[in-house]
Amino acid sequence: MRTRARRDGDDWIVNGSKMWITSGNIADVAVVWAQTDDGVRGFIVPTDTKGFTANEIEHKLSLRASVTSELVLDDVRLPADAILPNVVGLKGPLSCLNEARFGILFGAVGAARACYEAALSYAGERVQFDVPIASFQLIQRQLVEMMVAVNRGMLTSIHLGRMRDAGTLGSEHISFGKMDNVRMALEVARTARSVLGANGITLEYPVIRHMNNLESVYTYEGTNEIHTLILGQAITGLNAFS
Ligand SMILES: Cc1cc2nc3c(=O)[nH]c(=O)nc-3n(C[C@H](O)[C@H](O)[C@H](O)COP(=O)(O)OP(=O)(O)OC[C@H]3O[C@@H](n4cnc5c(N)ncnc54)[C@H](O)[C@@H]3O)c2cc1C
Repeated sequence: MRTRARRDGDDWIVNGSKMWITSGNIADVAVVWAQTDDGVRGFIVPTDTKGFTANEIEHKLSLRASVTSELVLDDVRLPADAILPNVVGLKGPLSCLNEARFGILFGAVGAARACYEAALSYAGERVQFDVPIASFQLIQRQLVEMMVAVNRGMLTSIHLGRMRDAGTLGSEHISFGKMDNVRMALEVARTARSVLGANGITLEYPVIRHMNNLESVYTYEGTNEIHTLILGQAITGLNAFS
């Protein structure tokens, strides 16, 4: 974390930048985490504050329904009460991440289910050699693999949800679900795209849209690699991050 905040009298002066912030250039306020002499702290920054700029990242082929921005803070002066109280260290940002990542467990299953259902419906309607392609063994295998994967992802999500209700859910459990559900959803989307043949690449069907969006989900809220390392650490006790 390179963004820094330093005291100037009662005020704070914040300097730094952050790429890839969803809705950054349409937001009225930004929550910015920064290094201070007392550790990581969070700040509420009105986006019309002098020194704050948000630049839209253009030419995305994924998650095109939302804007993504680069935030730049150049000597942004904030009053003392802009700081989030009672949150010191990485616990604050990490607890936000746990919440967002938990939601992704279910979002990924939803995207995968939409792709599977599109493929199932298409395979029943598309006729080749006078029969629906759903009657071919290889297509049935793809449909069954997708169905099993989608339901496995849903069972994982429900189980982790129950652990959350019971207060036994740890961040490594969320890594397990986020990593496995998102890669499952990408595999299902790719298989569904194949079942749709050439129609799989058009926006007439939801599959290619989910597939492209899932590429972002694979990276944000903890990349596949970082969740792998979290799980590696959880089962071996050894840290392989550096
Ligand atoms: C559409 C979109 C919206 C986003 N919205 C937000 C947002 O609102 N807020 C926010 O904070 N972020 C947001 N992000 C950013 C996202 O969280 C980051 O892109 C992600 O954390 C990866 O960081 P990076 O892109 O710098 O990749 P890098 O860190 O450069 O990683 C590149 C590759 O190297 C791998 N890698 C990096 N370090 C290690 C390591 N130690 N060991 C093994 N492999 C490693 C990564 O897994 C990845 O495969 C968004 C991203 C996208 C695409």
